[in-house]
Amino acid sequence: MIIARTLQELRDAREALGPVGLVPTMGALHEGHLALIAAARVAGQPAAASIFVNPTQFGPKEDFNHYPRDEAGDLAKLESAGCALVWMPSVEVMYPPHGATTIHVNGPAQHWEGAARPGHFAGVATVVAKLFGQVRPEAAYFGEKDWQQVQVVSRMVADLHLPVRIVPVPTVRENNGLAMSSRNAYLTPEERKAAPILHAALTHAAKEIVAGKQVAETLHHARHEVAQAGIIPDYIALVHAETLDPIPALTHPARLIAAAKLGRVRLLDNIPV
Ligand code: AMP
Repeated sequence: MIIARTLQELRDAREALGPVGLVPTMGALHEGHLALIAAARVAGQPAAASIFVNPTQFGPKEDFNHYPRDEAGDLAKLESAGCALVWMPSVEVMYPPHGATTIHVNGPAQHWEGAARPGHFAGVATVVAKLFGQVRPEAAYFGEKDWQQVQVVSRMVADLHLPVRIVPVPTVRENNGLAMSSRNAYLTPEERKAAPILHAALTHAAKEIVAGKQVAETLHHARHEVAQAGIIPDYIALVHAETLDPIPALTHPARLIAAAKLGRVRLLDNIPV
């Protein structure tokens, strides 16, 4: 496995490898990330992972300084997952002095996480565009766990005619249904017991909606169920799967999306309906 930390090292590695599938990450890797590596490898290309905790996608009151970091552990996991290249740029390489370009995506970036975390998706879109320019992958793999992020990146790639194929990969969950996330490390043992209720509430709500129950009422019940477990719902919404616009009744393609606060953690989850 090649580890590149400078643009020259990355260029040399890319020349040696040919077309690659890129898996952008912020490190603190878990099985969800490794499923993306596996998906890239199954597609038959060498997998390249990037590890970069991107400062511009964190709000001023968010956890950038405390975001979990485990370089040695991450490299060991990537090596055993069969990753061919790891791109680990510094903040200075990613954001050179006098940089003056930010990518703002409207449409799918406007609601939900975009509204709750101003500037977040501009940070994501900008860093992902930079990664695509640096690594020039043939395909890039993103987790459905961050459903809105997949739609924002797909919109940007379509709008800017970027020569990369975006491949969504299903969410990897704990046995109890909790979507794996690096930030789950912040949960106390008590909170870990409550956390799966978010996914259970979504699954239940999706069944009710498919069975023809009124959407607004079903979502209201789901929020109540989650709140009862000590999880503070920010939103639980039925949306158009690509535009992320809320929909009042079931039409296709639809997605049930949720964000909720549990202790220090903002839990995100979503399922198809
Ligand atoms: P992060 O390191 O949290 O920025 O995530 C890097 C990539 O891994 C993103 O495309 C995430 O959507 C994806 N990812 C994170 N958690 C999971 C999961 N539980 N299942 C599938 N993909 C995931």
